[in-house]
Amino acid sequence: MINYRKLVNAYRSLELGSHSRIIVHVSTKFVSETTGGADTIIGSMLSEFRTFITPTFTKKPSILPSIGPADNGIDYKDQFDFNTTAEFFHSELPSDRELGSFAESMRRYPNSRRSPHPLFSFSGLGEDEALLSQSIEDLYAPIHWLADFDGDVLLIDTDHRRNFSIHYGEKLSGRRQFTRWALTEHGILQCPDCPGCSDGFNVIQDRMSGVSRRVVVDGFQLQSIPLRDLINIVQGWVREDPRALLCDTTGCSHCSIVRSAVRVST
Ligand SMILES: [Zn+2]
Repeated sequence: MINYRKLVNAYRSLELGSHSRIIVHVSTKFVSETTGGADTIIGSMLSEFRTFITPTFTKKPSILPSIGPADNGIDYKDQFDFNTTAEFFHSELPSDRELGSFAESMRRYPNSRRSPHPLFSFSGLGEDEALLSQSIEDLYAPIHWLADFDGDVLLIDTDHRRNFSIHYGEKLSGRRQFTRWALTEHGILQCPDCPGCSDGFNVIQDRMSGVSRRVVVDGFQLQSIPLRDLINIVQGWVREDPRALLCDTTGCSHCSIVRSAVRVST
């Protein structure tokens, strides 16, 4: 089993410490293989890092209008299915199950704070500024803030398909973004610049070899990547090849829209 001491030693071998500001992604399997579960992992990060956040996204407030922008990766005919199950966003709304158990543990941890975006919120501990920087117009602001302060991504037993910060590099490169809508206490709000698909992100691993650090603990890999390097590499790559990092899944509406936009502009 993983324990507190093994976690702290792993962070130190990744050269993470009290100076570190982190966006972390943790697999549910890793949580279940840790003595004390998520509380031990969160406790180890509280003792070692200055600030850490994790995605606590939720689709529950999603609302669909009957008409909207074309090529938006969504079928407006699904309006009825969406809207009958929508819930107002509030800070106690659980994060999506697909994010794994760690996200919910972070959201519910004593003194953790949740950022305000109704669909793409993060929860974190440490400094509040990263979370407070987010708005409905700027869902990536917490990642921007962390990058400005030399933050890192920490992937624990998970791969780049969960590495949400890659989407921020895509946005900065000018890649097509998507519009969504959310039910909030202020009414239905339009959420611009929502990300596309991450299924093709693992091809970035080879380009990370010069900047990432990796350590294996009891068969589980922990990988740290400086955010600023990650964002620069993604931006440069997508500008050079506008089809970079898209997935090959037939029928992926998001990736096919991005490909179509490239064909139109070239
Ligand atoms: Zn895709």
